[in-house]
Amino acid sequence: MSTAILTIDDISSKNTPAIVDYLVSKGITAVMFAVGENVEKFYDEAIYAVRAGMIVGNHSYSHPAFSSLTIEQAKAEIEKNEQILNKLYKDAGVERVYRPFRFPYGDKGGAIAQDIQKYLAEQGFDKLDDTKIEYPWWSQNGCDKNIDTFWTFDFEEYRIWQSDDFTVENVWAKIKNMNPTQGAALLAEDNYHFILTHAHDETEEVVPGYIMQFVDYCLENGMIFDKPTFLM
Ligand SMILES: [Zn+2]
Repeated sequence: MSTAILTIDDISSKNTPAIVDYLVSKGITAVMFAVGENVEKFYDEAIYAVRAGMIVGNHSYSHPAFSSLTIEQAKAEIEKNEQILNKLYKDAGVERVYRPFRFPYGDKGGAIAQDIQKYLAEQGFDKLDDTKIEYPWWSQNGCDKNIDTFWTFDFEEYRIWQSDDFTVENVWAKIKNMNPTQGAALLAEDNYHFILTHAHDETEEVVPGYIMQFVDYCLENGMIFDKPTFLM
C-alpha cells in the first residue's frame, strides 16, 4: 500500500469544478497550486474549489521560470498572486488558513534560490508536512528543509498535448512502473508521495476525465490519499 497527497497545479480552469466534484466524491482533499492569471480568467471555478474545501496555494502570478527573475521580480510574482488569493478566499467566504507555495516548473530560482526561501519563511508560507517521505532524493536535494512544495511523482500528463510523441499510454506506463530508473515507484509498498498533476483544459480535450482515470486507478490499487497537513 502506498500513501499520497494529491497536488494539482495551474488552476483555475474550465475543468476545475469537475475535478473538484470528483475529489469530493472520493473524500480527497487536494492542494491546488493556483496561477494568478488563471484565477482571474476562471474566477468562479476557483471559488468553487475553495468552497469545496480544497487548499488553494500560490504558484506565482504569471508562471515564469524563477531562475530568470531578479529577487524583486520573484517577490512581485508571489505577492501579486497572494493578493488575488486573499481576495478569492474572502469572496468565497472561507478563512484562508494555509498558504503553501510551489515554483512553476519546479525551478527554485537558481542564483536567488536561497533568498526566495528566506522570503517565503519571512512571509509565513506553510510547508506541507513531508516527514513521511523517505525517498532519499528528497533530503539530498534539500526538499526537507525548503518551504516550497516539490513533488515525488509527476504524471507528466501535460506532455500529451504539448508533444507529438507522448500519449496517455506513456502516462499509464509511468503509473504502473514498479521499478523506475528515475524517481520512486508510484504504487510500491510503503512509498509516500506528493503526486503532481495539472488542471489543464487542453489535456481534458484529448483525454476526458484524465485526473479521475489516474486517481481511480491509484485507489483501485490500494493507494490511500492523505489529508494535507502543514508543519509549523
Ligand atoms: Zn505550473
